[in-house]
Amino acid sequence: MTVEIYDTTLRDGSQQVGLDLTVSDKLQVAAALDALGVDVVEGGWPGSNPKDAEFFARASELPWRHATLAAFGATRRPGRNVDDDGDLATLLAANTPIVTLVGKAWTLHVDEALRTTREENLEMVADSVAFFRREGRRVVFDAEHFFDGYAADRGYALAVLAAAAEAGADTLALCDTNGGTLPDDIAVIVREIIAAAGGDAGGRPAPRIGVHCHNDSACAVANSLVAIGAGATHVQGAANGYGERCGNADLFAIIAGLELKRGHELLPAGGLSALATTARQIAEVVNQPFEPRQPYVGSSAFATKAGLHASAIARRPDAYSHVDPRSVGNRSQVLVSELAGRSNVLVKAAELGLDLESGLATAVLEEIKAAEHRGYAFEAADASFELLVRRVADRRGAAQTPAWFELEGYRVVIEKSDGTDRSEAIVRLLLGEQRVVAVGEGVGPVHALDQALRKALAELYPELASIHLVDYKVRILDGRDATKAVTRVMLTSADHEGEWTTVGVSDDIVTASWEALADGISYGLLRAGADALVPAPA
Ligand SMILES: [Zn+2]
Repeated sequence: MTVEIYDTTLRDGSQQVGLDLTVSDKLQVAAALDALGVDVVEGGWPGSNPKDAEFFARASELPWRHATLAAFGATRRPGRNVDDDGDLATLLAANTPIVTLVGKAWTLHVDEALRTTREENLEMVADSVAFFRREGRRVVFDAEHFFDGYAADRGYALAVLAAAAEAGADTLALCDTNGGTLPDDIAVIVREIIAAAGGDAGGRPAPRIGVHCHNDSACAVANSLVAIGAGATHVQGAANGYGERCGNADLFAIIAGLELKRGHELLPAGGLSALATTARQIAEVVNQPFEPRQPYVGSSAFATKAGLHASAIARRPDAYSHVDPRSVGNRSQVLVSELAGRSNVLVKAAELGLDLESGLATAVLEEIKAAEHRGYAFEAADASFELLVRRVADRRGAAQTPAWFELEGYRVVIEKSDGTDRSEAIVRLLLGEQRVVAVGEGVGPVHALDQALRKALAELYPELASIHLVDYKVRILDGRDATKAVTRVMLTSADHEGEWTTVGVSDDIVTASWEALADGISYGLLRAGADALVPAPA
């Protein structure tokens, strides 16, 4: 049986603190997951909020090429009939092919949270599953707190699974709801459940056994992988490991691990190489910073700093990374640093598709060393590095990079009155023969400059509309002479395809910010292939 990939980003994942999705966000995330090729997308809990109900009403707007949609809800309430339980009716009205029902599997929760009898809980499970089976839906049963329940009262936890299976649930997901179970225990228990869950004499096939893991002991991905190794054929997780507390299992790391290291075919052909882009795209839609160290997909996942190793990495990339970064759509990134020798610069330039002949490489290296001495750092500022290489190459006549705008000057006014900060910036640009002047307002001088620059360029470069700022960091270097210290600004910009970082350095924070800002926009226009209005140097 092939392993079923079940995504719960839009339900469990969206419980993460600070993650607040609109219906439009949810539709975009669902479309990205479907395009990647996961098997099931759980869209939400229609009984819990009107936003989720609206999502299901609009889900048919999506093309749905691969995934099947599931709606989530709880078993009927104690002492009620399934036919007069409003939440079940709402769940039915979501009209999804799959209904995922969560039920209690831990006696502590039956006694203390549900405050009903253990017998009644078993009937709630059976009645609710049977209700949706009668309506022709496929039912996945999520056994909540299963592993804790199994430890506390094994017989009862098994009785809950049996009640769901006998009523027609074809998948039993064992949930490590508190996220505290360790991999060796998961492996043993999953094996025991699979051995016990054979089909019955009436010809009902054995249910599919799955897991739903949380990361509270940093084992969510490991637990999911060992469960599959033990025979589970259904795995639940969330994009980028989103979820409450420490998160759900990171579905992307699970998929990459199973495909690359265990030979499973989970995504449609070519799907795996879209993993890094999908991870980044979803982070952008849900407005979360993308973790550079995220396994497989993060921008630093295959990055090496050691200058000594760069030439060896160039010769044998497989000696320094656990998988080929290209297999998941990522790339090995060699960080530029003062310690690095020529080979590092050459490797980095080759990564960027720039061919540096030997004289040029030496010139670039000298420029980098001089810049680093002034306070620049190119390790995380790819875009500034590329622009630097291009400028050096332009000066030597080895390349012709156009300029999109030239700064004639700017003026910034900072105002504080009645406790509010307001800044105004006037930016004067030259674009070939044209002179453009624009005014921007913002909450601080850098924001005002950004607004003015965008206003000046918006009509001339429509590509700018998809470029936005995602991060702005300021670092004071050598703070001994506090107000005269050098300021380094790192600025990250993004478009639909990815992110890039630029760096600016000055003893004036506004000048440093302008430099990072202007480079960030220039680089974005370069990526977008915008036609430059300033002629390239002759
Ligand atoms: Zn959960």
